[in-house]
Parts: sequence; C-alpha cells; structure tokens
Amino acid sequence: MNDRSEDRINRLHAHGIVDLHFDLPMDLYEKRNRADVLRTDFLPELRAGGIGVIAAAIYIEEQYLADSALRVGLDQIARLYAEVEQGNEFAICRTHNEIVAARKAGQIALLIALEGVEPLGDDLDLLRVFYGLGVRLIGLTHARPNAAGSGGIFAPRGSSPKGLTPFGRQLVRECERLGVIVDLAHINPAGFEEVVSLTTKPLVVSHTNSRRFYDIERNLSDEQIKMIGQRRGVIGVNSVLVSPREEETTLDRYIDHIEHVAGLIGIDGVGIGFDFFEFIYAAWPEEKRQSLAAKLAPPHFIPELRNHSHAPNLTRRLIERGFSDEQIEKILFGNWMRILRELL
Ligand SMILES: [Zn+2]
Repeated sequence: MNDRSEDRINRLHAHGIVDLHFDLPMDLYEKRNRADVLRTDFLPELRAGGIGVIAAAIYIEEQYLADSALRVGLDQIARLYAEVEQGNEFAICRTHNEIVAARKAGQIALLIALEGVEPLGDDLDLLRVFYGLGVRLIGLTHARPNAAGSGGIFAPRGSSPKGLTPFGRQLVRECERLGVIVDLAHINPAGFEEVVSLTTKPLVVSHTNSRRFYDIERNLSDEQIKMIGQRRGVIGVNSVLVSPREEETTLDRYIDHIEHVAGLIGIDGVGIGFDFFEFIYAAWPEEKRQSLAAKLAPPHFIPELRNHSHAPNLTRRLIERGFSDEQIEKILFGNWMRILRELL
C-alpha cells in the first residue's frame, strides 16, 4: 500500500466508523474500582481505528441472574455515565441529532443498548425507566431463554420452536411506539419471524454472521437476510463467528460475509457489528473460557481484526477486493446512519 492508499483510507474514515455492538458496559462494571477506564483502556484504540459511533451493550453475566440482573444493568449504565463524564471525548446520545452534534464536536457517540432484556425481568414498566436512561437499542435475548423469548442456539438446528412470550410481544410493540430500535441479533428463528410480523420499521441485526459460512441458528439464513432486505434493514457483520474453523477465521472470510449479504440484498443492507470481546475473554480464568466454549462455541478471533484499532486493515482489504469508495462508506458508516436517522 502506498501513501495514496493510506490517504484513501483516512478519507473513507473521515465520517467515523459506526460499530453497532460492543460489550463495553460490562467491562466498565467489572473494572469499577479503577478510574478513567474508558479513556485509558479504550480511547486509544477507538481513535486509532477511526471509530465514530459505538452501541455499548449491557449484558448480564450468569452469576448475576436472576436476582441482581436489574441492579447490575443499572450499575453498568451508571458506570458508563460516570466514565463519560471524566472527559469530553465521548457523548451518550439518544437521537440522531445528538449523534451528529457529537461527531461535529469530535466526540465518539455512544448509544446505549441491551443485549438481552434480563434487567427488565418481566416488567414492561421498566422499559420506560431504561428508555429514560438512554437505552435506544434492545435485543430481546442472548443465547439463553428469558422472559421475552429464546435465543438461537450455536448449532444448525434445535433452538426452541416457540416464538416470543406474551411479554416479549408487548415489549416489541412498546419499543416501536417509544422509538427504541428492536435488534434481531441472537433471537431464535421462531422469534425472528414473530418480530418481523409485529413490526413495520426497517429491521436491524446489530451483530451476526451468515449461515452460509457458519451454519448455526444464532446466525442468519439467506431467507432471513432477504426479509431484512425487503424491509430496508441493515445487518452488522460480526468478527467472532465468521467460521467454525480457526484456520478459516480470516479477514477475507469476514469480507466474504459482507459480499454474501450484499449479494442477497444489496450493499445498502450491510453494516458493521464487530463484537470485539477478546479483551474480556482473555481476562477470564481458563475454567470460564471452557464453559463458554462448551455452552456456545469457542470464539475465534481474526488475527488482523481483533480490536477497534485494526479497522483500517478492513478498509484496506475492502479496497484491495475492489469495493468502491461509495460502497465502503455505506458499509462503515452510511447504512447505519440511515437507520439511526430513520429510527431515532
Ligand atoms: Zn452477542
């Protein structure tokens, strides 16, 4: 790559990359006895990668279920606010206008998300509370079942055949009414169909992969991808489930997922949902890592795309594979910004 190519990458990153899934709040919560974690541990990589907007997803780990889920969910949000207030580099945003204003001010915009509604329990009224705290993106489940529905399992078949619970259906309707984006990541196939039929707005999957290359029900079938395309939705391509085989977990395979989705529904349907969590995984004791591998699947990390500072590697490879500037900008930025403009 010559200097002109590096200029081209910088130009393509000028708007800032939108990454719609990052497990940031749980890490801030685990490090709550340290000060300034966001600026110390995360800011350098986010800046190096040219990241502009991040969906910071609240996730409740097993050890806090069920009694402490609400408490820990609130604490994660509280930590996020406290950390953001340490400086002027980040802004928690609730609307598209706030995101645009934050970007103009050179800040990294944070959108608060839920990955699984465990903090709500089965109390619909609490949705209002979390909305008031800034939550604007809600995935109903992770892999495990909860009061709203069931997750897709990490196998080609065998997820719960049931759709959403009555609570899950109420929640989806109320999210659409309030202006909270419903995120289809992780939901089981039956729940996916139900959300599609209950909603009318563009469909969003913050972080997932195609079953064409990793055939598990946690990922999306071609039929599901087409449904999202019909509703002018966007799919964030995940970096940790690109292949069941470690040797095929490559930057090129990541781009194969982008090409596959674009081939089915057009470039307007592809975004980024990196789901970088190697820093969390690496800090776990061996026992906990084995338990994750046994329950879900062993995660494989793409050597050249392990954290936000590696985003230019993706852009460089997209250029090498013949993507146009217009296409790259849509993938990195434009498609998610369209969704955020239409839905928030
Ligand atoms: Zn996830």
